[in-house]
Amino acid sequence: MVNTMPIQQTTAPLMKLPSDQDASGRTLGAEEIALLTEAIQSGTLTSTKGTFVKALEKQFADLLGVKYAYACSSGSAAVHTAIAAIDPEPGDEIITTSITDMGALTPILYQGAIPRFADVDPVTWNVTAKTIERCINDRTKAIIVTHLFGNPCNMTEILAVANTHGIPVIEDSAQAFLAQHDGQYTGAMGAVGCFSLQQGKHITTGEGGLVTTNDDALARRMFLYINKAFGYGDPNPDHYFIALNYRMNELQGAVALAQLPKLQGVVDRRRAAAAKLTAKLQGLPGIATPQLDPRNLHVYWKYCLRVDASLIAEGAVGLARKLKAEKGIFSAPRYIQKPAFQCEIFAQQRTFGNSHFPFTLAQPAAVDYNPNLFPGTFTGLEEVLVLPWNEAYTDQHIDYIAEAVQQAVRSLAY
Ligand SMILES: *Cc1c(COP(=O)(O)O)cnc(C)c1O
Repeated sequence: MVNTMPIQQTTAPLMKLPSDQDASGRTLGAEEIALLTEAIQSGTLTSTKGTFVKALEKQFADLLGVKYAYACSSGSAAVHTAIAAIDPEPGDEIITTSITDMGALTPILYQGAIPRFADVDPVTWNVTAKTIERCINDRTKAIIVTHLFGNPCNMTEILAVANTHGIPVIEDSAQAFLAQHDGQYTGAMGAVGCFSLQQGKHITTGEGGLVTTNDDALARRMFLYINKAFGYGDPNPDHYFIALNYRMNELQGAVALAQLPKLQGVVDRRRAAAAKLTAKLQGLPGIATPQLDPRNLHVYWKYCLRVDASLIAEGAVGLARKLKAEKGIFSAPRYIQKPAFQCEIFAQQRTFGNSHFPFTLAQPAAVDYNPNLFPGTFTGLEEVLVLPWNEAYTDQHIDYIAEAVQQAVRSLAY
């Protein structure tokens, strides 16, 4: 061992923040183990015969106040199921957002439809009625909105535009469990809601998903789509159309069922922690805390700052570097490194063999990814700093994060 002098003497040891990637920041415990044990002892691990997934579906539908909920294998599967239920013709367009998880986008291509990227509001990073309306044309089959970071899109205005044109709206609520707009839950306002139970979401089964709807016909098609389109329970069941096995199993169902009663508490604690951080960072020059529509209830999947690069050296990237170096806080400047349409899958149209299908059917305007058409997206990604967020944060954690940001801002201020 070479004895070296520390380059910089830190005044206090680094604090380890609870993480959603391990037990420190997850609500998994005795309740999950008890139901999981019950599932294993039952010997029935498939949801077609078991009781846990069915109970989860019933309780999740009741919680959101919707008629139907179906569990599936992931959030990506949930979005795929929603699109398959709406059943676009090849080449139909589905309006989506340039800032979201790839799992919300690839299902569009798998169903032979063309993603039409709408720009976002640079302050909320969400699509708006205005950015969506510009994309609507006679090929538009559906709209998928992502309630990004747990902050709802303006569904009042979006549904008004969509309804005028008779276009269904799919709400990707993977990051927005129990978020509300104007008193209504996200995932319960549009034609279909989609949720993810992936490791890093509000509640988790490692992998898993849910779809919700009030529409009888969409519910029937979604149930079938998750089940290889086999008409379980029908007098003469058949495989009615092209579909996959997207089922959740009973092990996941048992864990999800135990997680569900904890969800409201998770949301409440994340919101309370966020309010405390916002109060501490209010008025810090060069930093903007989340700007909330008073009709919105934000559930803080992540806590995002906007960083003004004209006041802070190297903007969000500079701030992130400081937080990591000085305090061991891992934040994400830019969230996703680039807008979705700049990823190879879209930019190079890497789909099925060398066919470029379904892009071969696209109208030129639908695949025009000229950056000038996406000012909100580029500004939004430039400015955003995503702080890791968790329901297990204590006042000490919040103080630590607040002081880290204040110090970093002071040292980087022009
Ligand atoms: C996580 C996520 C998905 C995909 O969910 P998986 O369970 O990872 O497949 C889709 N959309 C959004 C907005 C997400 O955050």
